[in-house]
Amino acid sequence: MRTYGLFIHGREVPAASGATFSSVAPMSGEILGYAARGTEADIEAAVSSAREGFAFWSSLPPARRERILLECANAVEAYHDRLLNLLIDESGSTIVKARYELLYTASVLRAAAGEVRRLYGDTLPNEKTHRLSMVIREPVGVVVVISPFNAPLALLAKMAAFPLGAGNAVIAKPSEETPLIAVEFAKVLHEAGLPDGVFNVVTGFGSECGEPLLKHPGVNGVAFTGSTTTGVRVGQIAIQTMKRLQLELGGKNPLLALGDMDMTKAADIAAMGAFSHGGQICMSSARIIVEAPHGLAFAHALAKKAASLYLGDLRDERTAYGPLIHQRAVEKVIRHVQAARDGGGQILTGGSVHRGLVFQPTVIYNPPRLSECWAEETFGPVALVTEAASLEEMIAIANESQYGLSAGILTNDLKRGLSAARQIRCGAVHLGTHSFQSDPMAPIGGYGMSGIGRSGGKYSIEHFTELKWISVELGETPLRRAHIF
Ligand code: NAD
Repeated sequence: MRTYGLFIHGREVPAASGATFSSVAPMSGEILGYAARGTEADIEAAVSSAREGFAFWSSLPPARRERILLECANAVEAYHDRLLNLLIDESGSTIVKARYELLYTASVLRAAAGEVRRLYGDTLPNEKTHRLSMVIREPVGVVVVISPFNAPLALLAKMAAFPLGAGNAVIAKPSEETPLIAVEFAKVLHEAGLPDGVFNVVTGFGSECGEPLLKHPGVNGVAFTGSTTTGVRVGQIAIQTMKRLQLELGGKNPLLALGDMDMTKAADIAAMGAFSHGGQICMSSARIIVEAPHGLAFAHALAKKAASLYLGDLRDERTAYGPLIHQRAVEKVIRHVQAARDGGGQILTGGSVHRGLVFQPTVIYNPPRLSECWAEETFGPVALVTEAASLEEMIAIANESQYGLSAGILTNDLKRGLSAARQIRCGAVHLGTHSFQSDPMAPIGGYGMSGIGRSGGKYSIEHFTELKWISVELGETPLRRAHIF
């Protein structure tokens, strides 16, 4: 059984304490390997490596950074199978989802390479005649990237690639559920030519490994993707040392099915939005709001689809979903389903554990809208369906949430669809499809408790660069108050 190290300054090293923890496959329960258990004692080495990496990386001409990031993308494709197999096993992904993550990872690295040459500044009009004013962009420095378990490669790559493109160095702290894929990714990037110290990985737990990183004065920025509860804590710590902060947090995403839709087709689209990766997707279509009188017909069509989803080996291309990540996740789903049932929700299909950590795709009609199942993120394969009398009521229901990450609107009526899109308070609204969409160049992030800031393309670059105003006095230095100075 392989024991992985922390990845610091271009090589794997054990944790200072020598401690390790196991990485377990959620589908089989098998131990896949051991990761180094990083703690405060390891953070100094990681930060000093990243500071050295930053000094070198930020001094390179943009064309060199662009070329290296393109090589990194090529290397992800060259090492496709090595990464794919670990991704499937460690995160319980189906082969289809794992392939998508790899495609996305290579694509995000290429998109970041493209942004390297677009670190534009400004020249400004002046109050004074003899002054030239310009604004330049500089990388913030060392950026800590803290990632969740559910898309452990794609999200880590997305959060790291754009700050790297802007000339920052990165220290990644992956989820303790998926540490090994992050170390493998770091090795691939290093083999592709990313210089020592530019991308480091410290594996370990939130409080003993993540927090000392957030507190370190040598760290300048934080990109975090994870739950809202953790994000609030991360934000509180990071702001004490004024780190540049970006938070991508949870969601309870609405999907609106308008009355003009064919409800069987709408249900097929909704099934993909709600049940992909067992619902363990931040943008999952969890609350489905159907225009009257189609609510129950839609819910039955969705239940039929959910019951027909194939569950086989994760490497079988027909398999539609896999296990939840751990027992605590299963217990949360059970609690939410129970709350919906207690409040009078009708369970049309599913509602219990299939086997191990696999929960049945579940459709609940008319759940109580005040209970935790409606208000909180379930992060499991549970679709809640409710009916509303008008478009105004659908929008009001969509907006009755502390979250505001992503929404979908199913309609062929562009005018009604666009009108709804403008009124829904979410970071993204997708017309003609479900709420789970991504693109390397799009701004991903949310309103309300779904986070702060946006990642992707130029939006990440803006976030992880400092603006500096430089002015040049072109005339005589005007000392109008010469009698004072
Ligand atoms: P989590 O909040 O439990 O953990 C996320 C990361 O934070 C892990 O690396 C964890 O080790 C680290 N962490 C935990 N406590 C910490 C602390 N005190 N200090 C520093 N780091 C700490 O989330 P999870 O269960 O891994 O992932 C699921 C959550 O992520 C869901 O809520 C989901 O909605 C969210 N998510 C959001 C997006 C988005 O784009 N908005 C994308 C994917 C996942």
